[in-house]
Amino acid sequence: MKISVSMLSTYLYCPRMLFLQKVLELEEVPKEVLVMGSIRHESFDMANKREEPIITGIGSLDFSYILQLYKQNYSKFLREIIIKNKPNLREVNVSLIEAFKKSWPSLMTEADSRALNVFSFIEKHNVFGKELWEKLIPKIKSEFRVESEQMQLKGVIDKLYLYEDSYVPVEFKTGKMPRDGLWPGHRIQIGAYAMLLEEKFNTQIKEGFVHYLDADEKRHLEINPFLKEEIKSLVHEVQTLIEGRKLPDYCQNKNKCKKCSFSTICYNEEEMEKHLKMAEIIA
Ligand code: SF4
Repeated sequence: MKISVSMLSTYLYCPRMLFLQKVLELEEVPKEVLVMGSIRHESFDMANKREEPIITGIGSLDFSYILQLYKQNYSKFLREIIIKNKPNLREVNVSLIEAFKKSWPSLMTEADSRALNVFSFIEKHNVFGKELWEKLIPKIKSEFRVESEQMQLKGVIDKLYLYEDSYVPVEFKTGKMPRDGLWPGHRIQIGAYAMLLEEKFNTQIKEGFVHYLDADEKRHLEINPFLKEEIKSLVHEVQTLIEGRKLPDYCQNKNKCKKCSFSTICYNEEEMEKHLKMAEIIA
């Protein structure tokens, strides 16, 4: 059974949560962090998919003008996404203006980094228009799908940098950033994407990043053979959990439960009993 990369991350966070989602098929109540996370994901995706007209529209080598072009477009994209998410924002009591203010800083950083990359490229190669778009390195893909029969794994990479001789996966995350390095599930996610890319492109992936959007910081991960072994055995553990259909115990860290959108149902024995019975019937 092929599983998704995000399932590995959820499993590491709390196996019972994965069971609730994938075996009992319970849906999470939309919380502010989920809604805001989805707005930021969608905005970055739109920024990638609509980058060609921005780049081909650049007419002169002036950094502040290029940056302004990016900012104007990104602001338009973000407003479009926020309006689309209006019903979800209402559900979590976040106003449209508040959603804009919270999401804008990470998009500004992205605009700054892309404008700088394009500016440096034009400065070096003196190309504009269609030629600039075609020759620009790195190319950036968003929502890039990868899967492997052999690894029994599939996933969607938030952002993929394509250089002439390498690929670098980047995962966007909202919420608290760890003091050092990456949260365990995020480390596994990037590692798994790297393995899937290695198989797809028949090349070695040396690194990846997690971009913690709220802190606006990118954390680096070096891919090594130990990480790959860890991922292979996690895939097996998750498959066993899903196929075994045995409800795992509560997670040990009660702070996680306090923040969890399943907590009301998860600790309600009667409700859980009902859902377990329903799942058995479906199974
Ligand atoms: S409430 Fe706690 S044990 Fe239950 S799914 Fe959430 S984190 Fe896991």
